[in-house]
Amino acid sequence: MMNRFQTTLDRAVSVTGVGLHLGKETTITFKPAPPDTGYVFVRTDVESRPMIKVCVENVRMIEEQARRTTLGENYFEVHTVEHVLSALYGLEIDNAIIEIDSDEPPEPAGGSVSSFVKVLREAGVATLNHHPRKVFTITEPVSLEYYGATLTVVPYSGLKVSFTIDYDIPAIGTQYLSLDITPDSFTTEIAPARTFCLYRDVKALQEKGLIKGGSLDNAVVIGDDGIMNEDPLRFPDEFVRHKILDLIGDLSLLGFRLEGHVISAKSGHASNVQFVKKIKSVYQGSVAKAQKHLKDRKWDIQDVMKLLPHRYPFLLVDKVLEIEPGKRIVGLKNVTINEPFFQGHFPGSPIMPGVLVVEAMAQVGGLMLFDSVDDPSNWLVYFGGIDKVRFRKPIMPGDQVRFELEMQGIRGRLCRMRGLAFVEDRVAAEAELTAMLVERS
Ligand SMILES: [Zn+2]
Repeated sequence: MMNRFQTTLDRAVSVTGVGLHLGKETTITFKPAPPDTGYVFVRTDVESRPMIKVCVENVRMIEEQARRTTLGENYFEVHTVEHVLSALYGLEIDNAIIEIDSDEPPEPAGGSVSSFVKVLREAGVATLNHHPRKVFTITEPVSLEYYGATLTVVPYSGLKVSFTIDYDIPAIGTQYLSLDITPDSFTTEIAPARTFCLYRDVKALQEKGLIKGGSLDNAVVIGDDGIMNEDPLRFPDEFVRHKILDLIGDLSLLGFRLEGHVISAKSGHASNVQFVKKIKSVYQGSVAKAQKHLKDRKWDIQDVMKLLPHRYPFLLVDKVLEIEPGKRIVGLKNVTINEPFFQGHFPGSPIMPGVLVVEAMAQVGGLMLFDSVDDPSNWLVYFGGIDKVRFRKPIMPGDQVRFELEMQGIRGRLCRMRGLAFVEDRVAAEAELTAMLVERS
């Protein structure tokens, strides 16, 4: 299960090395950052210390775009950022300031991001409590075809990547790998996979004055007769693993965590960036829709009665104060001495029956479920289970009871919710509810 809250680094850490394309000695320093910062590069080699925010809007299309990812804001750029970003995103670090004294991060020792991962893990990951993580949970597939590459993301609990490569070069060939991406699997299965390139491309790039910092120490080079490096591959399918690493780096351009299963056939940086743009626009659409939905609905008693089939004396919700569709709802019940149940429960010392507190909580939860379907009048909510009920404090005439329910999980039409009933700021009751939407026959 992913952390619910945002994360950053516990302390600053640095790595020094040589940049791949320009061959300059460079130091990169990863620093803790406040919530909602995301990743921001700071060019410390420039007097004004310009910042370049990591987001897909700041991707610059340059000639060698197919081989590396370049970000730019105003007049300043950073190149070849995908491996650094992959390490941060793969370790589920949400916020970091990345200071760099050049326009390109150093090539990690040994040609893979394992050395970045090592220092980042040494720095430690700090949880920023009370700051919920931005996560986009895929509920409907998103796909892209782009010059022979295909990318799709489908619903999944967690982040999973499946990747197929198919090179017309026998030393690479066809490779496929499917993996749940967690900080641990990223560290052991993905981070060690080195950059690879074809010798004929290396020659062409060198002629353009690029890859000055490239050598057989930091990349696997494939020539006409196979792999030119002396040391063996780290995995038989090291190439597809590195493609997964690049893809994770490009997913970091989303600016939020992705919950879904990403399936790629033959994608590279250019197609990954297009795919990230598409996912981001779907995300922005869903956020706008949710916000509009919130504004459009006034949840007074008339609305409550449109959604809930209950009536006097069994309607136990007066008002809905907040709703985040499919996630959370806050409802209100004003308890007065005129409630019919006080006549017998108990004359002289009226207390709201505990089972009715749970019933009221269930009705508030039911409102959240009805809100998730287009035509609520076609549906009924059946409660399948009530667990872990605790009554903490009696509810009496004059109390205003605030029910807060949070969705814990949805499987098909079955939902699990956790509810709390508050009177003022004290918990009066709590319970876990399982409910199901059933079509009216
Ligand atoms: Zn790469």
